[in-house]
Amino acid sequence: MSAEAFGDVLEANEAYAASFDLAGLAPYAGRGLAVLTCMDSRIEPLAMLGLRPGDAKILRNAGARVTDDVLRTLVLAHYLLGVERALIVPHTRCRMAAGSEEAVHDAVSEAGGPDTRSLAFLTTDDAHATLRSDVQRVRSYPYLQGLTVGGFVYDVDTGRLEPVC
Ligand SMILES: [Zn+2]
Repeated sequence: MSAEAFGDVLEANEAYAASFDLAGLAPYAGRGLAVLTCMDSRIEPLAMLGLRPGDAKILRNAGARVTDDVLRTLVLAHYLLGVERALIVPHTRCRMAAGSEEAVHDAVSEAGGPDTRSLAFLTTDDAHATLRSDVQRVRSYPYLQGLTVGGFVYDVDTGRLEPVC
């Protein structure tokens, strides 16, 4: 690891730690929430929902997709960490909804990357339909029958959540 590559954030962390006030925070989701959203840097998962540290478990990946790893994490969050409700929140203008799987492979290649066709990027050409099926995947998952699940689309231009399912 090259420390100079992270100098800016390490310096910021010094200031953060100097006024750190989250010591003793319980590891449980204080508001009983889990939020699955995209890795998109325009999204502030806590702020957009009026949440504070300690309130919710935040899960992120490209496209806010319900993958096996998301299911694994939700099972742990539900049974061990106080999560009773899960919001699944993809967003408008997501790269994962802007082109085909093939187009993303091509874009990586054109950016100087390797041939990524062995990876499934989980793109969608119908974001609402994909959200509905992802929500249904959680609702029908045998280990998560006690979890309440909702699907919403976050608008990166207005900050609003649109309830979908
Ligand atoms: Zn996205």
